Amino acid sequence: MKRLLKAILSGALCTLLLAGCAAAEPRASGTPVSSQETEDPFLVMASFHPMLLLTRMVTDGVEGVEVQCMAEANTGCLHDYQLLPGDLRNLQEADLFIINGLGMESFIQQLLDQLPDLAVTDTSAGFAAELDAEASSEHAGHTHQVNGHVWLSVPYAMQQVQAICDALCAGDPVHAQAYQDNTQRALERMQALHEDLEAQLAPLADTAVVSFHDAFDWYHMTYGLNIVQTLSLHEEEPSTRQITELVERIQAEDVAALLVEPYTQEPPAVASMVERETGCPIIVLDPLTRGEEDPEAYFTAMKENAQTLVEALS
Ligand SMILES: [Zn+2]
Ligand SMILES: [Zn+2]
Repeated sequence: MKRLLKAILSGALCTLLLAGCAAAEPRASGTPVSSQETEDPFLVMASFHPMLLLTRMVTDGVEGVEVQCMAEANTGCLHDYQLLPGDLRNLQEADLFIINGLGMESFIQQLLDQLPDLAVTDTSAGFAAELDAEASSEHAGHTHQVNGHVWLSVPYAMQQVQAICDALCAGDPVHAQAYQDNTQRALERMQALHEDLEAQLAPLADTAVVSFHDAFDWYHMTYGLNIVQTLSLHEEEPSTRQITELVERIQAEDVAALLVEPYTQEPPAVASMVERETGCPIIVLDPLTRGEEDPEAYFTAMKENAQTLVEALS
């Protein structure tokens, strides 16, 4: 936040200096200058796909702002992401860098060491303490670690959209009204989406499932889906013992499905093995880390995920 403020203040100072120059220097006749045409667009970089979608909800149809994604479209979650030289070059040009926070961008300190003037908006900063407190208290007889995939919990995603709006209004005040109008519309739709998801998923509260990406834990924490165990495949390969224990648990607890993220060719080998051993079917949920760049994709994918769960588990 300090950095953003610093950037805003230096921006304001530049504007004052420029205004001073313009006033002192009589404008040559016959060369009307439109600031709209000559100014570079306000360049916003989103760290990865979910942040791109949430940012585009705010900037949709607004002139003079450009939104790009730092990570390539096929990157997925940023777990273990290594910054590329091209990322640094792109971010150097950016007026604002939108991140998820909560450790998703594990490179952020290294980045700020190299680009100390980069204005960063951490979209989860406003509720990180709340998540910390939740993680240390019990949820239905067990505890959870802080889970960074917050965009899959619509109420938190709404707070992220609001944080993006606030940052854009501060950094690009000329378009503040347009950003606020978009945000209000987006938040109303997200609230309706959240209520739909609650209603659709409530009947599944007693259906046991197993997940292979901790992103989906939010379907448990926000919407009550009974995820009895998560074995994340983006970290180390699970050990034989972990897999054996999981298979035993699936058989003992009458697990109805295995949740995996979309795969390009074959389902992850571990998930396939567990499916063969247990007869428990794989179902694919979209963690929104890849796909269409249109902000509508957020709503479409969240609705499709709920539909998939309802169809597979009802
Ligand atoms: Zn992830
Ligand atoms: Zn729980």
